[in-house]
Amino acid sequence: MAIQTSTNTDSARQAELLSGSAVAAQIKLEAARDVERLRETHQVTPCLAAVRVGDDPASAVYVRNKIKACEEVGISSEHHALPAGTDSVELLELIASLNARDDVDGILVQLPLPASIEEAKIIEAVDPQKDVDGFHPINVGRLALGRPVFTPCTPAGVIELLDRSGITIAGSNACVVGRSQIVGRPMAQLLLQRDATITVCHSRTRDLAAVTREADLLVVAIGRPGFIGREHIKPGATVIDVGMNNVKDEATARRLFGAEADKRIEVISKRGYALVGDVNPAEADAVAGRRTPVPGGVGLLTVAMLMRNTIKAARLRRGIE
Ligand code: NAP
Repeated sequence: MAIQTSTNTDSARQAELLSGSAVAAQIKLEAARDVERLRETHQVTPCLAAVRVGDDPASAVYVRNKIKACEEVGISSEHHALPAGTDSVELLELIASLNARDDVDGILVQLPLPASIEEAKIIEAVDPQKDVDGFHPINVGRLALGRPVFTPCTPAGVIELLDRSGITIAGSNACVVGRSQIVGRPMAQLLLQRDATITVCHSRTRDLAAVTREADLLVVAIGRPGFIGREHIKPGATVIDVGMNNVKDEATARRLFGAEADKRIEVISKRGYALVGDVNPAEADAVAGRRTPVPGGVGLLTVAMLMRNTIKAARLRRGIE
């Protein structure tokens, strides 16, 4: 069943908004049912261990949201918040102990880690069977071979959103802007598996707008507030905005938020910042057919897909079909 989308009735043109929150709520509902069934049939309650190092406020919010989602769907969770001075050896010891525990199904190490810790070494230390983020090289390799076990949550959430919004992926010209390990690369792999024709762009791409304007489906994950504008978007295209950036000043808010600027400036004055994606929403509205909002788009799906991966880990480790 296709998820309901909304269209603004203002005289100004607005792209159809793809509601990440509605799809995320649906996925969490399904996850809650799966957890209940696991408990009834196998007396198993999946458990997620979240590990965070340091005081990065954004990371603290992300982990808090993940723990809250666990509570909502009935997954048990633990939060290991380590001080900023933690070194690699201490972190590796914690990971080894979580790997060894039979009651822990999923391990999530919140990125980024402090610069003093070698991220790749930590990711590789997580048992691939508990790697619910899908970042371990074994899981990355499986995804590249077209046989994913744990798919990284953000790109997996984008695919769910497209499917449940009734958007055809197969045969489309899809462009992914950004080639990070956690979003851009796995996103391109997943779209390829779904028979899209893929172009991946990055900071060295020449004439980015000329490339992105060819895309029926444009996925952007670059970490640049409102960078993708009208000139980057093919008329009628579907634009998925993965970016999550903070806007703190009124002038930028006016440039990015168009008719919504006053509302967002109010948010800035209350909270100190307003969230904006990598796409300029006001300009995207002038050309795109559909787009994801920020907030209310991809971010919520990431957490929902983490719930799904944790349940999958609990089943796979116990050989439950
Ligand atoms: P990242 O690791 O910093 O990678 C950024 C990518 O964008 C790189 O591949 C970089 O190219 C490319 N890039 C940067 N500037 C560019 C430009 N001007 N033109 C074309 N490409 C450019 O970022 P990330 O971790 O993927 O995150 C990207 C954004 O998504 C951030 O805003 C982040 O907060 C957000 N995010 C959201 C979620 C969610 O749940 N919604 C999850 C993860 C990330 P090079 O490789 O050439 O440097």
